[in-house]
Amino acid sequence: MSSKQHAAILCSPGMGHLIPVLELGKQLVTHQNFAVTIFIFPSSEAELKAATCTKICDIVQLPPPDTSKPANLIVRMRELRHVFRSAVCAMKFTPTMLIVDLFGIESFPIAEELGIPKYLFFASNAWFLSFVICCPTFDMEVEGNFVDHKEPLKIPGCRELRPRLDVIDIMLDRTDQRYHDFVGIASRIPKCSDGILLNTWKELEPITLAALRDENLLGRYSTVPVYPIGPIIRPNESNSSAGKVFDWLDKQPTESVIFVSFGSGGALSHEQMIEIAWGLEFSQQRFIWVIRSPTVTTADAAYFTTDGDVEGPLKYLPEGFIDRTKNLGLVIPLWAPQVEILSHPSVGGFLSHCGWSSTLESLTNGVPMIVWPLFAEQRTNATLLAEELGVAVRSKVPPWKKVVERKEIEEMVRMIMEDQKGLVLRERMKKLKESAAKALEEGGSSHNALSQFAKHGESMYMQLANVNVRN
Ligand code: UDP
Repeated sequence: MSSKQHAAILCSPGMGHLIPVLELGKQLVTHQNFAVTIFIFPSSEAELKAATCTKICDIVQLPPPDTSKPANLIVRMRELRHVFRSAVCAMKFTPTMLIVDLFGIESFPIAEELGIPKYLFFASNAWFLSFVICCPTFDMEVEGNFVDHKEPLKIPGCRELRPRLDVIDIMLDRTDQRYHDFVGIASRIPKCSDGILLNTWKELEPITLAALRDENLLGRYSTVPVYPIGPIIRPNESNSSAGKVFDWLDKQPTESVIFVSFGSGGALSHEQMIEIAWGLEFSQQRFIWVIRSPTVTTADAAYFTTDGDVEGPLKYLPEGFIDRTKNLGLVIPLWAPQVEILSHPSVGGFLSHCGWSSTLESLTNGVPMIVWPLFAEQRTNATLLAEELGVAVRSKVPPWKKVVERKEIEEMVRMIMEDQKGLVLRERMKKLKESAAKALEEGGSSHNALSQFAKHGESMYMQLANVNVRN
């Protein structure tokens, strides 16, 4: 390689966005000899701490978004664009490429101004990307609201999406401004990006990835090269595997504990929280449950606040719950070392909101799931896991539509922890765990895709530099 590449990565606020971006940065430094500068807008102390622990990338902290007024992330990132522009232009060296996450896509013109290539880090799966790429077409073709559309949304060469079950919430209602903002960024992907880094791997989604590359299928909508480089997840850090939780886990039988968590910001209604508590207690299975105070607004209400009062959520549990379950499980308020818990041999199930990082952390540890989607693309992920990959169970009616009752929760927990069906899911999960590990090995599909991306970045940079010299 002629000279070292330097990636500037723009990361949207929120722990769920930060974690994969930090890991991408580390992969580029470690495996491709990049220098990496990550620009963050930390919205909590926890985010700032997570970012500054990363020693091998430069971290530039920009002012946090104003979360006092409600606004969707696309709008927030649009408002923050000028701050990011000033920070990139103030760098000692001009970066050789810009990488943004989905919500940062409106910052692509900054790369054009600097004469450098621009890439999207789509920290999700290929099926969701396929839907996003087709969104502008669906927007033109579907009459009325998607939510009222009875027919599935057809994506060439891929599994179709049922609007009422699989489609991201903000795309369901045209009267919501977020719908139009989302279609706007979706339409920019094929027009403006030089490549897409995907947090999946070839062997996990072979058909969808092939469709993305086939000009008769999804390739009709986007010819941008796609690099499946995943699973990119935070590694297990042994110094986080100490303390009461791990002392307790060490004493439990292999694969006997179900971990219950709703990501960095998912929150439940009080009624739902009570049903989960009873469901866990009735199931008589061992558990670790990360709890937050219930939401009275939306399920993502806690997304920008991983800090908070540790005692607060406990008072919402059914009376006597902690006492009655003291030999069965642990309740952890607000935040737990999820990767370390999922990789502990005593953990055998995960009741999850199925954010994509949590999903990958479950897949790479071979832990079968109960999918409990709350918001965003979690609905798509839930269907992928339960119906396409066959590694999860789900409630009869999705949790965002109606409170799932204790009896059904008890049955699902027993099913994945002790039934024959659970064993089948576990076996499939273990195969996926092996396939993920292989993809990341030297010569594996994701390892190779990352090298191809680096080569593409270098050649795009040279091409643009030549054009700039000629002009
Ligand atoms: N996470 C964690 N401890 C918690 C909750 C979340 O370490 O108590 C981490 C989790 O391991 C994952 C990320 O936060 O890496 C959540 O990302 P995901 O995409 O699953 O969901 P989001 O938070 O974006 O909804």
